[in-house]
Formats: sequence, structure tokens, C-alpha cells
Amino acid sequence: MERPKRMTTRDLKLGNRARLLRTLYFDGPLTRRDLAPATNLSTATVSNVTAELIAEGILREAGKVDSDGGRPHILLDVDPGHALVVGVDVGETHVQVELLDLKLAARAAARYALETGRHDPATVIEHIAAGVKEVLAAAGGVPVLGVGVGMPGIVEYGPDGVVHAQAFGWDAVPLGRMLADRLDPLPVHVENGAMTMGQAELWFGAGRGAENAIIALIGSGVGSCVIAEGALYRGAGSSAGEWGHTTMRVDGPACRCGSRGCLEAYVGAEGILDRYLAAAGAVDLDGGEEAALGRLLADPSPAAVAVVDETVRYLGAGLADLLNLFNPELIVIGGWAGLMLAGRRLGDITAATGEYALKQPFASARIAPGMLGPDAVAKGAATPVIVRFLGGA
Ligand SMILES: [Zn+2]
Repeated sequence: MERPKRMTTRDLKLGNRARLLRTLYFDGPLTRRDLAPATNLSTATVSNVTAELIAEGILREAGKVDSDGGRPHILLDVDPGHALVVGVDVGETHVQVELLDLKLAARAAARYALETGRHDPATVIEHIAAGVKEVLAAAGGVPVLGVGVGMPGIVEYGPDGVVHAQAFGWDAVPLGRMLADRLDPLPVHVENGAMTMGQAELWFGAGRGAENAIIALIGSGVGSCVIAEGALYRGAGSSAGEWGHTTMRVDGPACRCGSRGCLEAYVGAEGILDRYLAAAGAVDLDGGEEAALGRLLADPSPAAVAVVDETVRYLGAGLADLLNLFNPELIVIGGWAGLMLAGRRLGDITAATGEYALKQPFASARIAPGMLGPDAVAKGAATPVIVRFLGGA
């Protein structure tokens, strides 16, 4: 069996119960014998705490392993169905609400389209509230621990969940407080969508086990989540990782943030389709941006190929900036547009990154597509609720 990863100082500060639960959640299933060294707890404490957690229905037996001729050892794991959580992805084109088990597997989902120009807080809150009500009906009496929301824009870290989202025309909207009033008694946690996606990929996806990683979110807009020494890096005002608004070209095309020549204006789905419109004269937007980008990527015409090739070079330059600035061991490309681009052109994107990056950070990094698919924002939004359940950050 694979050894549990080393303990961090943070783990050591947790109480016995939280330490054990956390170890089993991330590294389980494990036997009681494995748990003692993995948690630095005595075998007696492991035995007491696991008995308590089994009695509460939080842990379950998950098979047996042989023990050199003796009695087989029982494997223990957190029961994913013990409780449920709700994760919400507020994107530019939709609100996706998912009912998830403790290991982030979806049990039910509700999706609402957001019309262009209809991103006011009241509309978004209505969709979230309707979606939460709909998925809770599928909970079947299992307790639901809380609701996490991933939002575009800058989200101030704190109980009010204050959102600054220029693309939505939101300036300091206390979404967390407004939703908590609406969804009472469920606790609500609001976080930037790139950060929630990063958290999900770090826990259960392509970033698993990485200490220094960047998770790049490419959808209509562009963002990123910086993981530094195993923890999310927020910066002074929670806006760290706004990679989409790094400048690719001085006096370049207007960006939705009010500046010019931002990376988002080149590699965000909206920016890609705008450039294709300028080159080809017309773009078929039937089925929305996702369908349009899919058609563009599959289109063998020279105009389409030129726009996609250019996008690959801009994306490579943007990823090279991340490598040079942060020296991560891993960059994960996620978001629905990022997954489409990486699905078809990962080798070219990596080669373009190598052309723009310094040799040393490029040589020590890996570029990989996200593993959790476009649902990663909603799944990751639920992780703060799970952290609380596990007994601390
Ligand atoms: Zn910008």
C-alpha cells in the first residue's frame, strides 16, 4: 500500500479526532495499524477515536488486508455518504448547483442559463436559491452540511463573502451574507471560482500531492489559483492569481476589466471568438460560446487554424509568465475552454510555453489538463464546508 504523505505542521496542530479524520479522508482507506504512524497518535488513541467515529457513522469498514499469516486487518475510510454538501458554480453563462457527497461525487445537479447582461445579484441569488432547493429534494434525509459558491471576480476572504466582479458589474456585493439570509440555516461560503477549481484539482484531481502548483482556469474569462507550499496563496486582498489580467500587449485590445491587451482578451473563450470574428467576418454562436469554440477548434479552414495557432502561442506565453514568476512543479489547465484547448493542442501549448519560459523553471515543471472536468468549480466550492466538517483548516 502507498504510504500516507508526510504530515505537515498544520496537521500536528489539529486535535486527535480531526487529525485522524483528515488523514483518512485524504489518504484512506487505512488500517488502524497504519493510522498510528500516519497521525503520530498512539495505537490506544487510534482505537478509541476510530470507535467513536464508527459509532457516529462517519467511518466505515472498506475491506481487509492480509497481515503476514495473522488475522487480516480491517481497512477504514470516511463514509462519503455520511453527509452531503452543495457546491455552486456561478459562471458567465450559467449557474450550476450540485449536491455532492463528502468525496465530491455528484448526487444531483441543477443548471440555469444566465443571459447576457442579466448578471445582477438578485437574478444570480434567485438561481442559486432555486437550485439549492431543487438538489436538496434529492438528499433523501441525509444531513446537508452547507453551501459553497464559486464566483468570477475578486472575493474578499471573510464571512460576508464580498464580491467585486467587473464582468458582472458587481462592486462590493456582500453575496455571502445575502445568501446566508436566504438559505438559513445552511452555512454559506463564497470563494473565487479559480480558487475553488484549484482546490478541487489539488484534493482529488491533477494537482493531488503537489506542493507548488498553479491551476489555470480558462472559460469565457481567465483566472488562476496559486498553490504555494501546499496552501492557497491569496495575497493581501484575496486577488492573487488574477492571471487573466496580466498584460500581453501594451495598447492591445480592450479587456472587460477596463485595461488593454490583457491575456484574457486573447485566450479567454470570448476573446478567441472575437478574434475569429475579426478574421473570418462571421462566427456561428448557435448553441453558445462552448459550442462555437468546439466548432472553431475542429475547423480545418486556414482562418480558423490561424486563430487557434495564435491562441496557443498567447497561452504559451501566459503560462511561461507563471513558470517564471512562481516556479511551480505543475501547471494544471482547467476550465471548460482550457480543457477543450488542452484536449486538442496540449503538446503545442507545452512547446509554446517552452519557447517563452526560462529554461530552468520550464524543465522542472509539468503541464497537465485538469482531471475533474468542467464541474471542478462547483466541486471545489464545496471544499470549505468539508474542511469545517473535518475539524479545521
Ligand atoms: Zn483585463
